[in-house]
Amino acid sequence: MAEWGTRGDALYDGGFLPMFVGGRWIPALSGAVIEARNPANGRLLATVPRADGADIDQAVAAARRAFEGPWSRWTPFERQALLLRIAERFEAEWESLCLSDTLDMGMPITRTLANSRRVLGMLRFYAGQAVALHGATIPNSFPGEILSQTVKEPIGVVGAIIPWNAPIAGSVWKIAPALATGCTVVLKPSEEASLTVLMIARLMAEAGLPDGVLNIVTGTGAEAGAALAAHPGVDKIVFTGSTATGQAIARAATGNLKHVSLELGGKSPVIVCRDADLDKAVPVAAMSVFANSGQICIAGSRLFVAREIHDEFLTRLAAFAGALKIGDGVLPETELGPIISNRQAERVEHFLGVGRDEGARLVTGGARLQGEGYHGGNFIAPTVFGDVTDDMTIARQEIFGPVISALPFDDLEEVVRRANDTPYGLAAGIFTNHLGTAHKLARRIKAGTVWVNMYHAIDPAVPFGGVRMSGYGREGGIEHMQEYLDTKAIWINTD
Ligand code: NAD
Repeated sequence: MAEWGTRGDALYDGGFLPMFVGGRWIPALSGAVIEARNPANGRLLATVPRADGADIDQAVAAARRAFEGPWSRWTPFERQALLLRIAERFEAEWESLCLSDTLDMGMPITRTLANSRRVLGMLRFYAGQAVALHGATIPNSFPGEILSQTVKEPIGVVGAIIPWNAPIAGSVWKIAPALATGCTVVLKPSEEASLTVLMIARLMAEAGLPDGVLNIVTGTGAEAGAALAAHPGVDKIVFTGSTATGQAIARAATGNLKHVSLELGGKSPVIVCRDADLDKAVPVAAMSVFANSGQICIAGSRLFVAREIHDEFLTRLAAFAGALKIGDGVLPETELGPIISNRQAERVEHFLGVGRDEGARLVTGGARLQGEGYHGGNFIAPTVFGDVTDDMTIARQEIFGPVISALPFDDLEEVVRRANDTPYGLAAGIFTNHLGTAHKLARRIKAGTVWVNMYHAIDPAVPFGGVRMSGYGREGGIEHMQEYLDTKAIWINTD
């Protein structure tokens, strides 16, 4: 424990960290800064530039120059080699990256360390994809020797905007396919969690990334984010964040009709059938929400439990929640860290109050944690509400905190209808030992991802994304590459 804590103190000393534009480390043109504080104790870690539209102009110009410069002549094999070198740098510095993340946004170190397979896998998966890109030769209806073919071309300058809940995976999942396809990137991290993304830029530069191919502009959503989304020099926006911000970005993007992909919020259902294996279902259903203290877009926050097993399930869930260790993420025993900011913790507390006021039964948790180990931090007890009805606010709105709303159900037709009664469609979980039930539910639930007898699995090779108001576009899999490519048709009269 002391070890991670001491190393953390040495990593960030409260000083100024510049942003990365055109291969140079620079302050904002205005000189303004944002403070980065540790959400576990309030300690000032660093200040970073608070960029605005003028800084975004500079970064987009640098990305455009790089896109049209030597980078455009890099072969796919050279881009592949770069991605593999970046993966090596990440592997060598993995502990520093994880510690930075834990300090900056609170995720327990044990959890960030365990994410290496996924993040290194992303870099290596897209390295493979870089050399697998190809168009097609297509038979056509013209008489004579007319050849028609397609080629895949990089879409251009990509503007990437990410939230604070998973800075490493969130940024790599935007940057790696851009590098694989030959695009260039201006990435704006969340104002709540910029430090690890700046470290990522340093590692990529050390691996040989040409100047301007990746630019990191730190700042707020209202200033830097909105300027990037509206910028006429940006060809594509890839965004992860809340649905409301996604809507604002889609509107801002209309100026030059830039392409948009949106990974947004959710209110994902987890359905526990009466034949489920409860020993397996209880911890997985609990952690589907409590992991990262509920700050996960895929949180299975509407827990539908078959009425016959409802009470027993909630008793077991409460026991599981009560045994979770909550604290500073640098402690190796910590299972749940803090909420990112006081403002966000107050938002979660507001939902706890609304849940009680609307008549839900508090089974466990329900309060902010104070006292020894929690001073200066934003900790909320893992919470389960029972007897929740479909119309309650806590069953409808995304809370983004460690709060489960449990709803009993009687039959499968009913639970399909109720699970789909939401504007969202990001993910769903099903627990059953009956193959037919699993398949029937998986097909009928409206969601981009459905897990059966498991949750949380996200892999570089498997497409991930939402339907309805959880967004559009896919990350992961070969589908992801298409998000960064244009298809050009070329006709040749060979007569
Ligand atoms: P947010 O929408 O408030 O912010 C996300 C990013 O957008 C930040 O970088 C922010 O600065 C920027 N931003 C804010 N306003 C902007 C504007 N007008 N124009 C351009 N950029 C703007 O989200 P958050 O609170 O940081 O993150 C939580 C949300 O993200 C939740 O709704 C969660 O479900 C969602 N999320 C979704 C996924 C997914 O893959 N679907 C993953 C993680 C988080």
